[in-house]
Amino acid sequence: MPYVTRFAPSPTGPLHLGHAYSALLAHDMAQEHGGRFLLRIEDIDRERSKPEWEDQIYQDLEWLGLQWEMPVMRQSDRLPAYRAALETLWQRSLLYPCTCTRRDILDSASAPQEGAVQYGPDGIIYPGTCRHRTGTPHSLTPMPDNVALRLDMDLTAIQIGEHRVSEGESVYFRETGEGPNGETGLTAFHPEDLLTTVGDIVLSRKTFLGSYHLSVVLDDATQGVTHVVRGQDLFEATRIHVALQRLLKLPTPEYHHHALIRDDNGKRLAKRDDAKAIRKFREEGASPTDIRAMVGLPLC
Ligand code: GLU
Ligand code: ZN
Repeated sequence: MPYVTRFAPSPTGPLHLGHAYSALLAHDMAQEHGGRFLLRIEDIDRERSKPEWEDQIYQDLEWLGLQWEMPVMRQSDRLPAYRAALETLWQRSLLYPCTCTRRDILDSASAPQEGAVQYGPDGIIYPGTCRHRTGTPHSLTPMPDNVALRLDMDLTAIQIGEHRVSEGESVYFRETGEGPNGETGLTAFHPEDLLTTVGDIVLSRKTFLGSYHLSVVLDDATQGVTHVVRGQDLFEATRIHVALQRLLKLPTPEYHHHALIRDDNGKRLAKRDDAKAIRKFREEGASPTDIRAMVGLPLC
């Protein structure tokens, strides 16, 4: 059995201790199993991604003692693959164009008959305003450009459901780490629940082709990743990814969610606070072994 892990940072800020934990853990797991460790640069959002952050990622990871296979996959080189997948989903009428502004979404999500605004892993759960705006079957019209494309989660749940053996059966993935509520082992969810907890997420943005969810699923499949190591903050997103894998008939890897590294006040680390940036520890004279100790990994 191949064993392939990856670390997939976005070059939108400095890597911090939480990233170091993810990267080292994925690297250790690959080594332990005689597997491969890959690095992927998630620079799909061209506005937020900066070459200097990408350079710093390489420097930080090298300093940590990590080695990865070359060439490194970069999402900015993968747009044709994202477009092809979007075209397929469009042809299957699983996508629809959405022209709502953030304000529109907030307004309709908080309309009196809707109750309180609901949040999911992608922000406000989209109230579905544009879902039935175009009556034409999508297979007859070309996929539009320069507009957000949303995934019809209702249809998604139905299509995933058709592949289930019996009514009400769940979709599964294997968790080798632990989710935020102690989920481990075979982890099940009902595709119907995605409607209320996730909603019609954006799979292609107005400002760039594709989205985090779409690209991560396609890239993991193309790279043959068998074990996705990531923080528990992405646990909800994992269900979206498993749903997309089912829709696109891609294999579902095993997932290893790990605890989040928190700051001294117990808050999870964010890219913008660089207090825990790896670079900062380096400059203050810490060693890679110190970093391993700080995140609670065995010292090698
Ligand atoms: N690129 C994403 C990030 O840096 C996470 C990658 C993943 O899907 O595990 O937050
Ligand atoms: Zn809309």
